[in-house]
Amino acid sequence: MPEGCADIEAVTNVRTARRRECEECVKKGDRWVHLRTCQTCGVTLCCDSSPNRHASKHARASHHPVVASAETGERWLYCFEHDQFLEY
Ligand SMILES: [Zn+2]
Ligand SMILES: [Zn+2]
Ligand SMILES: [Zn+2]
Repeated sequence: MPEGCADIEAVTNVRTARRRECEECVKKGDRWVHLRTCQTCGVTLCCDSSPNRHASKHARASHHPVVASAETGERWLYCFEHDQFLEY
């Protein structure tokens, strides 16, 4: 398999966060460290450094493999399924 993955290559317009908060943590009153936006459905959830790891749970449960960083100044995509990272 060449570098990259078809999931990341399929992203033409990067989805950005509607709100700068983890939708699931907000419901529970929990905290998060960094935010990621799902490139399939647009939901913004917390990263793997956060206690709840909502973004990776969502990726596995929903088969939405690619997230973008929702952090200011960060422009990258990550595929959970293929462990591929791409700066854009
Ligand atoms: Zn992939
Ligand atoms: Zn969360
Ligand atoms: Zn999704």
